[in-house]
Amino acid sequence: MPNLHQQYIDGEWTDSDGETFTSENPATGDTLGEFQRATTREVDEAVAAADAAFEEWRSLSRIDRAEYLWDIYHELRDRHQELGEAVTRECGKEISEGKADVTEAWHMVEWAAGDARHPKGDVVPSEIPAKDAYMRRNPRGVTACITPWNFPVAIPFWHMAVALVEGNTVVWKPAEQTPLCGQIIAEMFDDVGVPDGVFNLLQGHGDAGAAMVEDDRVDTVLFTGSAEVGHQIAETVAADSSKRAACEMGGKNAVVVTDEADLDIAVHAAVMSSFKTTGQRCVSSERLVVHTDVYDEFKQRFVEVAERVAVGDPLDESTFMGPLVEDAHVEKVTSYNDLARTEGVDVLVDRTELPDEEIPDGHENGHWVGPFVYEADPDEPLRCTHEEVFGPHVALLEYEGDIERAVEIQNDTDYGLAGAIVSEDYRQINYYRDHAEVGLAYANLPCIGAEVQLPFGGVKKSGNGYPSAREVIEAVTDRTAWTVNNGEGIEMAQGLSADINTRDD
Ligand code: ADP
Repeated sequence: MPNLHQQYIDGEWTDSDGETFTSENPATGDTLGEFQRATTREVDEAVAAADAAFEEWRSLSRIDRAEYLWDIYHELRDRHQELGEAVTRECGKEISEGKADVTEAWHMVEWAAGDARHPKGDVVPSEIPAKDAYMRRNPRGVTACITPWNFPVAIPFWHMAVALVEGNTVVWKPAEQTPLCGQIIAEMFDDVGVPDGVFNLLQGHGDAGAAMVEDDRVDTVLFTGSAEVGHQIAETVAADSSKRAACEMGGKNAVVVTDEADLDIAVHAAVMSSFKTTGQRCVSSERLVVHTDVYDEFKQRFVEVAERVAVGDPLDESTFMGPLVEDAHVEKVTSYNDLARTEGVDVLVDRTELPDEEIPDGHENGHWVGPFVYEADPDEPLRCTHEEVFGPHVALLEYEGDIERAVEIQNDTDYGLAGAIVSEDYRQINYYRDHAEVGLAYANLPCIGAEVQLPFGGVKKSGNGYPSAREVIEAVTDRTAWTVNNGEGIEMAQGLSADINTRDD
């Protein structure tokens, strides 16, 4: 592997004309690698390669295509430790999370490749006994996959595994913060010998992503990332009716703790939801909506943990929270903590700046920010309780009354990604189930966690489709409804006359 990492286009490691950029370990500030940055020329070449490879790839059976994915599955398993550590080094997630990212990726590949032998489509009845009616799916063509840094292995496979098994070709751009994970995954595709042009890697920034979205030869865009970029992509794609985008974006997710909650579960779920991955999951919770009857006890117990939760070296298994991903993100989270103060909230825990003694040796250049917890009035239209921060920034919102009131607060956001309810009362859970405006819901659990056999994505401003697992099939295929006549003449449905009446001369 060369020191300066290249693009992978049409089965070749390819130089680009552009600038270079580096990947940095957010816990130490060390450089992990130097990467060439894709320009519009490489975007053009990669899309052209994917376009040219499409006809041959789609002509293989689904089962043959899946065989390549099974080889990738074994690579992911064999390189679990190496890739898990790369995830942790590059994005700063604690090591069990780094390894779980890889595990989720092979689960996704297993699901998609296993699905290749399952029935696809529907056979439906026809009004006419001599007709067969059924539905077939066809691949759409070139799929642009644009992914974020926080699940640098799992999310790309959410997009790519199904797209490839269904017969599409792929141009993938990993996030600029995690190009090393992208490099390792591209090496796997190269090693297993996926036909040239079927899989292409572009390393770079948002400009390369935007050029992929705008390219006329791209049929489908699968995107996971910020609401700002996702809405931009959805808008660009909407201008071309032959193109399709499935976008999964951010959230301002809540955990509802009712008067009937088991408080052990509630505190545990709230801590996981707010601080796992240092609050940098799209499903992380920045709002805890807690009933007044249990509020004081919940607050005291939650604050106690938030004060002590272990922030530190993510490669150390005793760490709970690693660093934030980059300096710019430290600035963003810090500015929201400042904003909350300006907006007049009551601050309960402020570990925005960690004291030197909490920072492990050799990690002085890491991007450290600890938990920030405050109380706010759920009826106030505060920016800090309505805008996504994407960090360990969490509001306690006390409510009185019944579950209807809690759900009203939960729904008071433009987003609709994830939510959790903690309650021992099934009627409260049922009300929440029927009225919470979320794409992912959890009962007596943190509002984080995904399994690949469930769809993943949100409603409202959190998404316009599910770019993961079985739902990707909808995004990357078109349906054709077939009617086949086995009769000797033509007979139409609805009693429509098939007679061709002619005039007598
Ligand atoms: P995050 O805030 O999590 O970094 P972003 O939405 O900024 O999320 O980035 C997610 C992915 O989208 C990254 O791969 C990034 O390079 C890419 N991206 C950023 N801007 C654009 C854009 N204008 N068009 C397409 N892709 C973009």
